[in-house]
Amino acid sequence: MKITHVETMLLTTPLKKPFKTALRQTSVSESIIVKIHSDDGQIGFGGAPPTAVITGDTLNSIKGAIENFISPAIIGMDIEEFEAIMKRLHSSIYRNTSAKAAIDMALYDLYGKHFKIPLYKLFGGARKEIVSDITVSVNSPEEMARDAAEYVRSGYTTLKTKVGVDSQLDIIRVKKVREAVGNDIKLRLDANQGWIAKEAVRTIKKLEDMGMNIELVEQPVKAFDIEGLKYVTDHVDTPIMADEALFMPEDGFRILKMRAADILNIKLMKCGGLHNALKINAMAESCGVECMLGSMIESKIGITAAAHLACGKLNITRVDLDAVDLMAEDPIYGGVQVTGSKHAIPDAYGLGIEGLK
Ligand SMILES: [Mg+2]
Repeated sequence: MKITHVETMLLTTPLKKPFKTALRQTSVSESIIVKIHSDDGQIGFGGAPPTAVITGDTLNSIKGAIENFISPAIIGMDIEEFEAIMKRLHSSIYRNTSAKAAIDMALYDLYGKHFKIPLYKLFGGARKEIVSDITVSVNSPEEMARDAAEYVRSGYTTLKTKVGVDSQLDIIRVKKVREAVGNDIKLRLDANQGWIAKEAVRTIKKLEDMGMNIELVEQPVKAFDIEGLKYVTDHVDTPIMADEALFMPEDGFRILKMRAADILNIKLMKCGGLHNALKINAMAESCGVECMLGSMIESKIGITAAAHLACGKLNITRVDLDAVDLMAEDPIYGGVQVTGSKHAIPDAYGLGIEGLK
C-alpha cells in the first residue's frame, strides 16, 4: 500500500461559548484537515489546529510544512515500512509539531486500515471508553461558578478550571467554583504558565489551607522554566502536571530525570503525533509517572486519535478531550462517539473516521 498523494483543507467549526485561557481566546475551532491517499484507494485522515501562542504553528505554517516539506518526503513510501516513514516525517522539517501530528495520525489511520485493526487495540486495548473533564474558561468568578454548575448538571464529574490571570482573583475563582459544585466533583486547575514559581507555591498552599481539595495543578509557571516547575512540585502537596513545558520526548526525559513534575500532559500537537506520544508515555510509565492525554481546541479527527491512544494505554489515567463537546456542531462522520463527558471508540479499522459532512 503506497502513499500516492496528500490533500489539505481548512475546517472551521463554531464553539458553543468562547474558550478563554491565560494565553488566548477563541470562538471557533479551526483545523487543517489532511487526507493521505494510497494506491489501493484508502484514505488516512488527520487534522491540526493552529495554536500560535503555544506551539508557534499557524494555519499557513501547518499547510506550508505539509505541502512543501512533509508530503514530498513521504509520497511513494509503503505503509508497511512504518518506522522508515516516521523517520522521514520527523526529519523532513524542524519543529512544526502540529503539521507532523496531522500527518502522523493519518499514517496511523492508513496503517490500521491496512492491517485491519482499530488503533486503540494496536496500542494495547486497555479500554473502549474514557471519561473526559471539561474546561471552565477563565472569566469573572461568578461566571465561572455558573459555567461549572451547568457542566456538573449536564453530567461532568471532573472540571478543569482555568486560572493564572491574577493569583488573588484566582483564589476567589476556585472558591466560587468549589462552592457552586460541592465537594464530590474533581477540580483540576490549569494556570497556563500564568504564575511565577513563588507565587504559584503561595497560591497553591493557600488553596490547600482553604480545603479546596484540588486534584492537580497544570503548568503553573512559564514553559521554559523547568527549575521553577520543579520548585513548585517540591514545595506543595498538590500534584503538579507539566503541559507547555513538555513538547517532545526529550522534554519528557528531562522533566522525568529532574522529577520536575508529578504528572505529564501529552498532546499530539506538542509532540508531533502518536509515534512520539507513545515514547513519552513509555518513559513516564517506566519512572512511575502517570500521563494525561490532552488536546487543543481541534477537530474531532485529532480528538479521535488522542482517544484511541488514551484507550490503548493503562498509564494514561486522565483525559482532557472536551473539544468536541465544546463545539456547536459536528462536521465529521465517524470517529469517537461523544456523549457529554463519555468518549466511546468505534470498532472500525484505524481511527474510524468516515469522512466530512
Ligand atoms: Mg494546559
